[in-house]
Amino acid sequence: MDIIDLHCDVLARMHKAKGKIPFADSKDLDVTFEKLKQGGVRIQAFAIFVSPSIKSDEKFQVALDQIHYFYTEVIGKNPQMKALKTWDDFDQLQDGQIGAFLTLEGVDCIGNDMQKLSILRELGVLSIGLTWNNANLAADGVGEERGAGLTAFGKEIIQFCNENNILSDVSHLSERAFWDVMDIAHFPIASHSNSQTLCTHRRNLTDEQATELFKKNGLIHVVYNPPFVVEKGDASISDLIAHIDHFCSLGGVHQIGLGSDFDGISEKITNLEDASMHPALINELLTRYSEDEVKGFAFQNFLDHRPGRQAVL
Ligand SMILES: [Zn+2]
Repeated sequence: MDIIDLHCDVLARMHKAKGKIPFADSKDLDVTFEKLKQGGVRIQAFAIFVSPSIKSDEKFQVALDQIHYFYTEVIGKNPQMKALKTWDDFDQLQDGQIGAFLTLEGVDCIGNDMQKLSILRELGVLSIGLTWNNANLAADGVGEERGAGLTAFGKEIIQFCNENNILSDVSHLSERAFWDVMDIAHFPIASHSNSQTLCTHRRNLTDEQATELFKKNGLIHVVYNPPFVVEKGDASISDLIAHIDHFCSLGGVHQIGLGSDFDGISEKITNLEDASMHPALINELLTRYSEDEVKGFAFQNFLDHRPGRQAVL
């Protein structure tokens, strides 16, 4: 079964290693071309993530460096990997190709310069999360004690996303910023978050937040990071599926997807340790849900709710 994974951090890993880890088949990466192929991943999102520890005036260059690795190492050296730069490109994938697209995790790297955001869009960014865990000029992330919402600049960015058919990712936002985004975003998504009802981690969504996302035609992609799956101890595939069950109970059966966070997490769910192992999750889902429902979680729900495919509420 084809799979679309909405979040991985392999570009940040490659940047840290100065491009010296081969994307094709490195043992050190959770996401490689070989592992995507083995795992049946048809489309992989590649996050641009610039660490808050990088000096402000170097951040945009770091983002560009990660995009460089995407086009040279991921796409350039693996002829079957195909860059997807528009939502229509998702329908043009040929048999045997694996699609890859860019997302932005935190807008720190653009400073206060909207032109830099246009450049990132031109280079293929299709989803933007305003923050990682820290605060920036657009909004507060979930780790910022102040817990404020969007700034005027943050609102301008959501407007830009609306006008350019870019997803607005709420996964790392403070709760107040989440509600501000939901007020104005045409294409909201949580690319890698689970349910707070089952695991009270700050990165997870309350039932009110999940319900609002479903009401606004948004998507929630469940994340494979054990601390976001269970309160403590090891996490199993069943524990992850409990989050899918819970989101289904809130009416989200057609709006749930997958967002592994591979290469951004140090702990792993047992039997779901890298991109080659997605079939273990799919097989377990098939024992509990209909084939159509599982296809929905794996890829179809996302395709159906892409910008341009849904009525704007
Ligand atoms: Zn993240």
